[in-house]
Amino acid sequence: MIKVNRSPVAPPSLAKGTYQAKDVQEQLLLDFNGKCYLCECRDMQSIVTEHLVAHHGARVLMLDWNNLFLSCSHCNSVKNQKKYEHDIIDCCIDDPEKLLNQTIDDTTGEPLIETIGDSLKAVNTANLLNDCFGKDNTPYRKAEAASKVKAFKVVMNELYKKLLTFREKEDDLRAVKGMLDRRHPFAGFTRGYVRSHLGDYPELKDCVLLG
Ligand SMILES: [Zn+2]
Repeated sequence: MIKVNRSPVAPPSLAKGTYQAKDVQEQLLLDFNGKCYLCECRDMQSIVTEHLVAHHGARVLMLDWNNLFLSCSHCNSVKNQKKYEHDIIDCCIDDPEKLLNQTIDDTTGEPLIETIGDSLKAVNTANLLNDCFGKDNTPYRKAEAASKVKAFKVVMNELYKKLLTFREKEDDLRAVKGMLDRRHPFAGFTRGYVRSHLGDYPELKDCVLLG
């Protein structure tokens, strides 16, 4: 999960009573850089408009621009559990990188999300994200989670490779900087990795500053 700059102007359709309109979807795709706000995948099989706080039919929450998020259907389905209805980090307000340590499991190479501090939002969000990538799911969700993990490993392996050569090759430096940009898939993890290895890559410090 990564900080997102939401457009301050709500798309006009919301005032007309619908959040499933073209202008809403276009603005969400733009603001969220085409990525699911939970798993940070851009290769989404299906995309949904998600409500951060479950609306249960309440129009105020349903049509609140600040409550609408871009999600893949997998993460939407994982989040659609009572325990995740409230107290999830709002990545348009708070910088998730200050509240979560988005790291890599040493033994499996899979995503591992830990909390920084013990706020309820950090704890709930870490649990949610670990569930989005996790094996402890229904069979369909398990298969979806496995494809996210596969995409994650491709990006991380590319990062590790470029980190070996970026000092010699200008193109690889550009590639590393691209992967550390918040718009890149899994940026929470690429940035987290470099931030935790700044002793090895001090020249990349400015690329991973917190918001
Ligand atoms: Zn997702």
